[in-house]
Amino acid sequence: KEFSEISLKDIDRLASSSFPLCMRHLFDKLRENHHLKHGGRMQLGLFLKAVGLKLEDALAFWKSEFSQKVGAERFDKEYSYSIRHNYGKEGKRTDYTPYACHKIISSTPSVGDHHGCPYRHFSEENLRAALGKMGVGGRSLDDILDKVRSRHYQVACTLTFEAVHAASCDSGINHPNQYFEASQKILQT
Ligand code: SF4
Repeated sequence: KEFSEISLKDIDRLASSSFPLCMRHLFDKLRENHHLKHGGRMQLGLFLKAVGLKLEDALAFWKSEFSQKVGAERFDKEYSYSIRHNYGKEGKRTDYTPYACHKIISSTPSVGDHHGCPYRHFSEENLRAALGKMGVGGRSLDDILDKVRSRHYQVACTLTFEAVHAASCDSGINHPNQYFEASQKILQT
């Protein structure tokens, strides 16, 4: 079936089953810190929009986290605008498109930022730990780290996809939303 909408109650389950590592990391950090800086809000927010999270659910989702950190009032005043903006409801009303891998890989996260591509921006130690949490180990993990060392980040992500789903991904991963859709296709059949 065509995947067009996700509901807020399914979001944690979907994050652990079908989000690529870049989005899983942002999602976990948001849940942990109840906050993400601008780069992370853009990268995750546009991904979630393209995954099918409706505007009202997106506002509820971000508010439930941010209000634990900055309070509901400040969320409404300072952050809700940019979420509505991502959905084309404010400003120039552009319908912003989610970021492809090449854009995420070439971004330059600073200290305290959680956006970017973990294959490109994590230390090897952190990447190992993150992949371990996804259940990737042994020979698969070695192959992935080899690809990272030779700077083939999207190939490393593709190998992760294949290890996690025990299925091949012949097209290769070039977009986080493609990762999500390919994952759902496998899990829903
Ligand atoms: Fe995300 Fe693409 Fe990096 Fe995979 S290769 S973690 S989908 S940016």
